[in-house]
Amino acid sequence: MILLLHRDADAAVRGRLQSALSALGLSADEVRLGERTGVVVTSATDLPADSLARLEGVERVLPLEERGSLVHDTWCEGGRTVALGGARFGGGFTGLIAGPCTVESEEALEQTARLVKEAGACALRGGVFKVRTSPHSYQGGGLEALQRMHRVSRRVGLPFLTEFTDPRQVAVAGELVDGVQIGARHMQNFPLLTEVAALGKPIMLKRHMGAGVDEWLLAAEYILKAGNDQVLLCERGVRTSDRHVRFLLDVSVVPYLKSRVGLPVLVDPSHAAGDWRLVSSLAKAAVAAGADGLLIEAHPAPESTRCDASQALPPADLRALMNHVRQMLALDGRRLSGPALSAAADESSTSPRAASA
Ligand code: PEP
Ligand code: MN
Repeated sequence: MILLLHRDADAAVRGRLQSALSALGLSADEVRLGERTGVVVTSATDLPADSLARLEGVERVLPLEERGSLVHDTWCEGGRTVALGGARFGGGFTGLIAGPCTVESEEALEQTARLVKEAGACALRGGVFKVRTSPHSYQGGGLEALQRMHRVSRRVGLPFLTEFTDPRQVAVAGELVDGVQIGARHMQNFPLLTEVAALGKPIMLKRHMGAGVDEWLLAAEYILKAGNDQVLLCERGVRTSDRHVRFLLDVSVVPYLKSRVGLPVLVDPSHAAGDWRLVSSLAKAAVAAGADGLLIEAHPAPESTRCDASQALPPADLRALMNHVRQMLALDGRRLSGPALSAAADESSTSPRAASA
């Protein structure tokens, strides 16, 4: 076990802690944990973590195996920042990624991109390789749709991400995207994670609807192990036997993860709710819980879309939501991330990384 000490645990407090541990028959060594100090309990003990957490100077108790893993090594006070194009997530920046479920015509996508940018989005989303529950459903527009999305992104001035579902898409489409989404159903597709990680671009890893937090973090561990630490975790709801929502949004996972790992935590209220009327409330709950970003499906004419029409947020609702979110962030001393990608600045650029939000 590792006892993570309070920041203000001075030499006197640390001395008293060592005495308290010896009185309990335990030996312990002090270690540096980034900018923090920890005490590793080296002798075997039956004492539960809860008891040790009550000792003076101890902020919380970490199981020893947590330390070894790359994902826990990302933990730092204030959280780390991941940049998608020039949009920033984490480190006090909260960003909105919004757009249609699936990329349709160039005109329709451009209209959506402009309206989400105007509402406050820092990045565009849209699927071209769709994962559908039924093989008979529309499967997405493929590479041609991705090229449309790239053109729209550069014209409108919004970096974008899209889902990859097959490791072979990295070679044919990797250059075009600013970031890659790994969808819930592919969270444990480890060859896909490893191949996408090698692109060196930001990866938004969605939580599988049946995955525990540790399974989700170990999936992120695959990406980190492949040498890519630009990971955005995205909670999108877990399976429930109840029928009032499509999936149950796990809001509690946001503060939980933010106190344990340094990766930004995003929330997708759209796929959780499955109903646009619930999306704004869930998005506000996510921001209140400390989310570093929101992933929201929005569409100017939801009735005309081929995918997930029931959850697409109409423009007026997205604008109202973002006005509210801005005020919530200001109360907390946090900031809304901007796209930092100037419209039509560089139509040939594939990875606008230079500017900051
Ligand atoms: C999506 O974002 O379009 C999507 C299919 O999400 P999920 O993988 O969470 O179901
Ligand atoms: Mn969708």
